[in-house]
Amino acid sequence: KLKLLQELKGKENITLDGRKINIYANIGSVGDIGYVMENDAGGIGLFRSEFLYLGRNDFPTEEEQFQAYKQAVQMMAGKKVIIRTLDIGADKQVDYFNLGNEDNPAMGYRAIRICLRQPEIFKTQLRALLRAAVYGNLSIMYPMITSTEEVKKIYEIVAEVEEELKAQEIQYKIPEQGIMIETPAAAIISDKLAEMVDFFSIGTNDLTQYTLAIDRQNEKLDDFYNPHHEAILRMIQMVVDNAHKCGKWAGICGELGADATLTEQFVRMGLDELSVAPSMVLKLRKIVREMKVEE
Ligand code: PEP
Ligand code: MG
Repeated sequence: KLKLLQELKGKENITLDGRKINIYANIGSVGDIGYVMENDAGGIGLFRSEFLYLGRNDFPTEEEQFQAYKQAVQMMAGKKVIIRTLDIGADKQVDYFNLGNEDNPAMGYRAIRICLRQPEIFKTQLRALLRAAVYGNLSIMYPMITSTEEVKKIYEIVAEVEEELKAQEIQYKIPEQGIMIETPAAAIISDKLAEMVDFFSIGTNDLTQYTLAIDRQNEKLDDFYNPHHEAILRMIQMVVDNAHKCGKWAGICGELGADATLTEQFVRMGLDELSVAPSMVLKLRKIVREMKVEE
């Protein structure tokens, strides 16, 4: 069976009746890129940048970040690499951020909220990303968005970074910029958000947590954590439709994207991309190649 999957390398993700979908990979460090290539993923749909911040005593420098992002896009040689800006907080705690204790960290000071409140941390990462974008097919993705105001503030900060790089005569490129849809608020206003961004990537892990009001870390609630809930599937459809109305693309980068029991449904729903663990790429390719959109 594994051998049969190996034979799918180099083939397209295309249904019997001609619908194509991108199947990308999720990674957590530059070291994972070998698996991405081995499994013939079309790109990297979620590069969790936390690896740069975790397991150390101080913030990573702009240069360290630049080198890591540059290496990633160069290794992927023209294939899309979507790097998510830092998603620290909640389940990912780092001492030197001094985030303090919170009663509800999942609903607390995390991800883009830290970036907007402490723009010096955000700007260092953005400088590294804009500089690395010169070397390949890099996209930036912002996590935990809930409002259009947040996106506006992000763009203001990106514009400041651009001005600074220009003034310093440092090479940069403004890459494609998208957001994660992982809060119910973002899904519900996705018609407005679609006008502002280049793409959506649906984070079903957090979207399920916040929609069903179930702490994704609380094992006691595992029986209730149901990403197949109709509310989640309806939101995914709504997000895809709102993206397409604006000519933007929409994918899934949460765990649900790798759920083989839903692959056919996702293709029919019009999803443009599924970003999954590298080991799942060929399995999903097989399902796509053996299905028809029209039953
Ligand atoms: C998600 O929430 O679905 C997601 C992909 O992000 P993370 O699991 O890193 O929170
Ligand atoms: Mg998330």
